[in-house]
Amino acid sequence: MRIGFIGLGNMGGPMAANLAKIHDVIGFDTIATPASLSLTTSAAEAAKDADVVITMLPNGDILRAVAQDIHPAMKAGAIHLDCSTVDVESARAVAAQAKAAGLAAVDAPVSGGIGGATNGTLTFMAGGTPEAFTAVQPLFDIMGQKAVHCGDAGNGQAAKICNNMILGVTMIATSEAFVLADKLGLDRQAMFDVVSTSSGYSWSMNAYCPAPGVGPQSPADNGYQPGFAAELMLKDLNLSQMAAEAADADTPMGQAARDLYAEFVERENGTGKDFSAMLPRFEKRTRP
Ligand code: NAD
Repeated sequence: MRIGFIGLGNMGGPMAANLAKIHDVIGFDTIATPASLSLTTSAAEAAKDADVVITMLPNGDILRAVAQDIHPAMKAGAIHLDCSTVDVESARAVAAQAKAAGLAAVDAPVSGGIGGATNGTLTFMAGGTPEAFTAVQPLFDIMGQKAVHCGDAGNGQAAKICNNMILGVTMIATSEAFVLADKLGLDRQAMFDVVSTSSGYSWSMNAYCPAPGVGPQSPADNGYQPGFAAELMLKDLNLSQMAAEAADADTPMGQAARDLYAEFVERENGTGKDFSAMLPRFEKRTRP
C-alpha cells in the first residue's frame, strides 16, 4: 500500500516508522524531519498518489486546513485516515468534505501514548463506513493491538473524549483519596491493596497508580515525567466539555475535572508533568 503520512511529531513519527517497515510511506511535517522516513515538501505532494493518507496533527483547526490542501490532491477512492484527537465537529466536517470529493474518511484517535506508538500497541477507536474501516484495518494491525469500529464519522472522537473524561475524573478521585488516606494515617500500600481489589478500583489506581512506589511502575515512580502530560489531559477535557455543550449533555464531573486540570496546567506549573501529578498537587494543599 502507498501511504502519505502528515504530522510526524511524538506520535506520528513512530507510527509512520512502523508502517514504513511494511508499506511505502511518504511523510510530511512543517517542522519534524525524522531521518528514518522518506519526506516530501508539501502535504499535497505526500497525498497525491497515496491509497491512504494518515494525519496525526495537534488540533481540529490544523486538521481542517490540511484537509483543504490534501483532498483535492488525493486520487479517487483513496482514504483519509485521521488519527489526531480533535473535536467531533471537525471530524464530521472533514469526513463530509472527503465524501464530497469522492474520498472515504475514517476518524481514529488513539489511546496508548508515545510508548504505544513506538511499540505498535495503540488502541484505535474509529468512526466511518464499515467498508473504509475494513480497508484500513491492516494498518491498525501494524500500528496497534486493537481497533474498535464505533460507528459513523466522528464516533471515534466521541469514544475517545468519553473515555478520557472518565480517566481525568478517576485520576483526580484516586489522587484526592490518597491524600485523604494519608491524613487519616492510612499506609499507602494498604490503601492500594484494598482499593485495587475493591469497588473503588480503576485503571488510574490499578495500572497507573499516582502514588510513587505503589502498584506497577508508573510515571509516579519517575518523578511524574509523562507518560500522558497534564496539558494533553486538559486538551481532551476541553474537547469533552465542548462536545457536552453542543449535545446538551449534563457533565458536572467532567467540568470539575477540566477546571482542576486548567488550574494545574495554567497556574500551578503543571505543564510537562504527567497527569497523575494531581496527587502531589493535592498533597500540598489544605481544605479551601
Ligand atoms: P506533536 O506536537 O508532537 O506532533 C504534531 C506534529 O504535527 C508536529 O510535528 C507538527 O510540526 C506537525 N504539524 C503541525 N501543523 C502541521 C501542518 N499544517 N502540516 C504538517 N504537519 C503539521 O503532537 P503528538 O504528541 O504527536 O500528538 C498528535 C495528536 O495525537 C494530537 O491530536 C494529540 O492530542 C494526540 N495524542 C497524543 C498522545 C500523546 O501521548 N502524545 C496520546 C494520544 C493522542
